[in-house]
Amino acid sequence: MNNCKYIFVTGGVTSSLGKGIIAASLGKLLKARGFHVTIQKFDPYINIDPGTLNPYEHGECYVTNDGAETDLDLGHYERFLSTPTSQANNVTTGRIYQNVIHKERKGDYLGKTVQVIPHITDEIKRNIKLLGSTGEFDVVITEIGGTVGDIESLPFIEAIRQLRWELGGDALSLHLTLIPYLAASGELKTKPTQNSVKQLSQYGVRPDILVCRTEHALPKEVKEKIAKFCNVDLEAVIEARDAQTIYEVPLLMEAEYLDRVALKKLNLPLSNQPDLSDWKQFLYRLENPEKKVTIGLIGKYVELKDSYKSISEALIHASAVLQTEVEIRWIHSEQIAPENAEVLLHDLGGILVAPGFGSRGIEGKLAAIKYVREHQIPFLGICLGMQCAVIEFARNVLGWQDANSLEMNANSKHDVITIMEHQKEIKNYGGTMRLGAYDCEIKPNSIAAKVYGQKQIKERHRHRYELNNAFKKDLEKKGLMITGIYPDENLAEIVELKDHPWFVGVQFHPEYKSTVTQPHPLFTGFVEAASKIRS
Ligand code: GLN
Repeated sequence: MNNCKYIFVTGGVTSSLGKGIIAASLGKLLKARGFHVTIQKFDPYINIDPGTLNPYEHGECYVTNDGAETDLDLGHYERFLSTPTSQANNVTTGRIYQNVIHKERKGDYLGKTVQVIPHITDEIKRNIKLLGSTGEFDVVITEIGGTVGDIESLPFIEAIRQLRWELGGDALSLHLTLIPYLAASGELKTKPTQNSVKQLSQYGVRPDILVCRTEHALPKEVKEKIAKFCNVDLEAVIEARDAQTIYEVPLLMEAEYLDRVALKKLNLPLSNQPDLSDWKQFLYRLENPEKKVTIGLIGKYVELKDSYKSISEALIHASAVLQTEVEIRWIHSEQIAPENAEVLLHDLGGILVAPGFGSRGIEGKLAAIKYVREHQIPFLGICLGMQCAVIEFARNVLGWQDANSLEMNANSKHDVITIMEHQKEIKNYGGTMRLGAYDCEIKPNSIAAKVYGQKQIKERHRHRYELNNAFKKDLEKKGLMITGIYPDENLAEIVELKDHPWFVGVQFHPEYKSTVTQPHPLFTGFVEAASKIRS
C-alpha cells in the first residue's frame, strides 16, 4: 500500500445533519472493498473530553477499550466498521491546547511566541496524522465537529487547509450540507449550500465532494446547478435522502457512488466491489420482523434520547438478530413510584434500567426493579441499573431499609454499593473513573454463561462505585448471585437472581461493544427472553 490517504469531513448550513453517519457510511463502504479504515473526530470545545459533560449537553459519552471518554459519534464508527477506536480517535480543542501549553511549560518552544498559527494548527495536524502514521490504515477519515463558520472550529479548518496542500492527491475534502425544501413553492433550494461552500472556500478549503442532505430526490438540474456554483464535479454532488434507519445510509451512499468518487479522487483502486452481504442481511431482518416486543427503558435523561444512543442501537442490533421489532418505551425514572409501577410497567416484555450518576430518579428505578423482580419480567440493569438492583434486593429481600450506594448516602450502615478502593484518594472528576475494558470471569450455569457461551469476556467500564464484598455472602444466601467477577481485584461484575427467569445486572457497559456485524449477546438474550414472555 502507498501512503495513507485522508478524507476530511466538514458540515455546513446547520448542525445535526449527520456528519458522523456519513463518515461512518463511507468508512463502511471502503472497508467493504477491503481497505483498512479508521474514523476520528475532532471536537472544537474546550473540555478535555466529554467525560465531564452532562448528557443533556452532548448526549451519551462513549467509552473505548483503552478507557477514553469520547463523543457519541465514535459509537457510530464502531457500530458501522466493527473496528475498535481509541483515545487517538477523539480529540478536542481542550486537549490540543493542553498539549501545547504543556510543551510551552517544558520549554519546548525555545523562547518563541506560542500562537494559534502555527503552534495550535501544528498540534492539530500532528493529531490528525497520528493514526495514519501507525501504518495500520489505508484511509483515515477525519470528521470536524460543529458547523463551518463557527469561530471555534476555525483552527481545525485552517489545519485541513494546510494538510490538503501538504498531502496533495492523498487527501480530499467532503462537505455535508442541507438542501431545504420549500413546501409553499414546491422547490429545493441550493442557496444555503452555495453560501456554505463559499464560506469554506474563503478559508481556503475547496470541497471535492458535496453530500447534500435532502427530504426529496435531487433532480439532475439541481445537482448540475450545485456543481456549477460550487466548483465540484457533477458526479461528486451526492444526494443523501432522509432514511428510515441510519443503517440504510451506506447502501444509499453506494447507490450514489460516494465510495467510487472518493476512491477515484484519492487514486485508489476501484477493482474490488464492496461486499455488503452481511449488512444487507442485517437490514432485511431489521425491516421484516416477524414478532414484536416492547422494552421499557428507564432513565433520567429520556427527554434526550441521544443520552442512551448505544443502548438503543444495541437493541436494534438484537432486533435484527431475532427478527423481532423492538419498540422502546422511554420511561422517566422520576415518574415511577411504588403506587404506579403496575400501571406503567405491566404490559412490557422486558425492562432495562439505564446507567447514570447521582440520586435523581433513584427511587423510581428501585420501584421498577421491585416490580420486575416480583413479576418475573426480564430485566437488564446496566452500571447504575445493576447497582440499583443490588440496593433494591438488600432493602426488600434482606429487609435493610437503609441499604444504599455510598454515592447517594454517605451514612448508610448498609452501603451495599461502595466506593472502589483506588477511587478514595481521587480529587479530580475528569478522566478518573474506572474506565475501559477489563476482564470478567463468568460462573458456569448462569444466564451470563449461557448468553456469552464463554467463560472469559472483556467489557468496558465507566464507574467509581462497586458492589461491597462485605455484604456478598448475605446477598448470595438470599438468592442474588454474583455470576461474573473481575479476578484481579475480586470485583462483582455481573449479578443474577436465582428464582427469576431472566434478571441480569452488569457493572460494565455491554452496549458499547454491540455492532451491526457483532451484535451483543446480552442484548440478544435479553430481547429474546422479553419476547418469549409476551408472545
Ligand atoms: N454512578 C455510578 C458509579 O459511578 C454508576 C455509573 C454508571 O452508571 N455509568 O459507579
